[in-house]
Amino acid sequence: MKPASFEYYAPRSLSEALEQISQVGDDGGKILAGGQSLVPAMNFRMAQPTALVDLNGISELFYVHPTDTGGLMIGAMTRDRVVELDENVKLRAPIIPECLHWLAHPTIRNRGTFGGALAHSDPAGQLPVVAAALQFNFKLQSKKSERWVNADEFFVSVYTTCLEADEILTAIEVPALDKRAGTSFQQVSRQSGESALVGVATLIELDDIGKIKDGRIAYMGVAEKPVMANAAMSLLKGNKPTNALIAEAIHATVTEELDPGADIHASVEYRRHLAQALGVKSVNEAIARAAK
Ligand SMILES: Cc1cc2nc3c(=O)[nH]c(=O)nc-3n(C[C@H](O)[C@H](O)[C@H](O)COP(=O)(O)OP(=O)(O)OC[C@H]3O[C@@H](n4cnc5c(N)ncnc54)[C@H](O)[C@@H]3O)c2cc1C
Repeated sequence: MKPASFEYYAPRSLSEALEQISQVGDDGGKILAGGQSLVPAMNFRMAQPTALVDLNGISELFYVHPTDTGGLMIGAMTRDRVVELDENVKLRAPIIPECLHWLAHPTIRNRGTFGGALAHSDPAGQLPVVAAALQFNFKLQSKKSERWVNADEFFVSVYTTCLEADEILTAIEVPALDKRAGTSFQQVSRQSGESALVGVATLIELDDIGKIKDGRIAYMGVAEKPVMANAAMSLLKGNKPTNALIAEAIHATVTEELDPGADIHASVEYRRHLAQALGVKSVNEAIARAAK
């Protein structure tokens, strides 16, 4: 398979890339990051960009920095594998390497980028739900302006974010975790490296006497974008966690807030079953980690 013809730009700086995407973005030009999703889509002619602005030569977009507030700042072009193996990431946001372990295979993570996996907004992608649970902030730049948006605003629908045609996602801020916070990522896929049938990312914060102070639970694979388990959190918040309460809280989300579809891989009933089992497992693990 071969892609349709396109113009190719290889900028050496961010300002050059912003200038080029401002010229071609409105006419169907696209950003090329790791190419692990875009290039196959072009080869199958599912995507036919008129031009590609390739960010691979822009060294200023490749970095992982710890921030003064205890979080992380990650350049959009940092390879998934680099993020997965980074010591600051393991320490400050261990859920990121945990979820990246599930993302495709090491060879794909060697080339795929942290920003690309978020900008691609795959409803079965691991990073969007982790971004929703931890409330990542996204730096979007164009030739004319610069803005920050949070995860709730960034993910719009299947393969759709709030990025404008002339904007580039340049950096991702991962906020610091509370001292008594724990996280957990769980998913089920049919085989290693395959898309998840259902997955869940959880952040739980405990207070001094072990009650649930706050948290966020985000599901993947059950809708067009990450789904927040608000019903579960409102039952959990302010209470001492027990097995019965956790099961009841997750059940409330699974029955009231999730509307999974069926396909050749799984029925609606099986996806609901997974959402219940994975939700309970994820909340329990996050609580155990927060209590340490
Ligand atoms: C066999 C296989 C298995 C896979 N399994 C998984 C999986 O389990 N989970 C998963 O999440 N992904 C999976 N992927 C996809 C992979 O993670 C991709 O790398 C990722 O989705 C896109 O990252 P990329 O850097 O390759 O982006 P690209 O493919 O280059 O771009 C993807 C899209 O995002 C846009 N984009 C990229 N970067 C930016 C930016 N900085 N600013 C603005 N727009 C941008 C592009 O224009 C394009 O529309 C798999 C891929 C393969 C080939």
